[in-house]
Amino acid sequence: MNAKIITLSQAMNYDNIDIALFNNPQTIQYLTGYESDPHERILALLLFKDSSPLLFTPALEKEDAQKAVSEIEVFSYLDTENPWEVIRKKVESHQVPVKTWAIEKNHLTVARKEALESAFPDSLFSHDFSGLLENLRLQKEEHELLLMKEAGRFADEAIKIGARFLKEGITEQEVVAHIEYELKKKGISSMSFDTMVLFGPNAASPHGIPGSTTLEKNQFVLFDLGVMYQGYASDITRTLFFGDEPSEIQQEVYQLVLEAHNQAMQQAQVGMRAEELDHVARSIIDQAGYGTYFNHRLGHGLGQDVHEYPSLMAGNEMALQENMCFSIEPGIYILNQVGVRIEDCGYLDEAGFHSFTFFPTHLHAYKDFMNGN
Ligand code: MN
Ligand code: MN
Repeated sequence: MNAKIITLSQAMNYDNIDIALFNNPQTIQYLTGYESDPHERILALLLFKDSSPLLFTPALEKEDAQKAVSEIEVFSYLDTENPWEVIRKKVESHQVPVKTWAIEKNHLTVARKEALESAFPDSLFSHDFSGLLENLRLQKEEHELLLMKEAGRFADEAIKIGARFLKEGITEQEVVAHIEYELKKKGISSMSFDTMVLFGPNAASPHGIPGSTTLEKNQFVLFDLGVMYQGYASDITRTLFFGDEPSEIQQEVYQLVLEAHNQAMQQAQVGMRAEELDHVARSIIDQAGYGTYFNHRLGHGLGQDVHEYPSLMAGNEMALQENMCFSIEPGIYILNQVGVRIEDCGYLDEAGFHSFTFFPTHLHAYKDFMNGN
């Protein structure tokens, strides 16, 4: 059995939990390697304190699942069956006591919990494994880092595709459509979140929505995007200057964000508290008098989700550890005027922070890139 399942089994033994049910498809992929989107149907992994695990799938997935998880027994249900009754019969046939349960409270809906309670009326659903899983997911394994690097490579590629497509008069939404179309052709089936392309003053909204605004010369173009690659997310932001000579305020804001970004990338190290790294970037922007325009945390963890732990913000005393993956994304947003954010995601080890993305970050990156440098 793999190390993650062993850790969970130890927690079950420690807390005297008879059975744990995981129904979040991401958790199941994380623990078994089996990737599936069951839509409204039930997918569940059952771990037992005193018996081998079981994977429960819709009947139409059973063969794929069994192929993917050769060491775990798979059982399934038809659309015409009550899945919870099928689970009850299977668990009873295991002939091990199942009184105390652990579930994922962040993912088991109320309706499903009630169905489970009806099928197992004498059970106690007293333990929640959501937090334990979040903690397990904090530090990535080698094979996860490889997938995240690959997701990062496609994110870099997406910025290049978008940059090459820029011209005066084009709309934000046209650029978004072009990027996503080209990525689909390269085999990417989904983005990790809605692709953001914002022109000029629109970039001053950190969570802006691309629309019909057209691109003008001497504007910033903010790209914030990422892809899903075999279940793992990437996330990058570049703010490219589209034009010849940036204005004073454009230069000042850009250089400041870049300095904050670079300092945080360089100073990130194992053992540092999450809030300390936020402070590294924030103090640079604060000291230049723009502190109130940097109105979000420095970064967030990522992995199977584009937002997970750790959160890099004031008040988070968590020590950063080897193989934690997170974003470094300072920004300055002056309403209706200028918005700049520069974001890279990467992982930490004893040598420091290693980005998954490499698109250049200097102020004239766009010009150099278009000139083939
Ligand atoms: Mn991000
Ligand atoms: Mn982002």
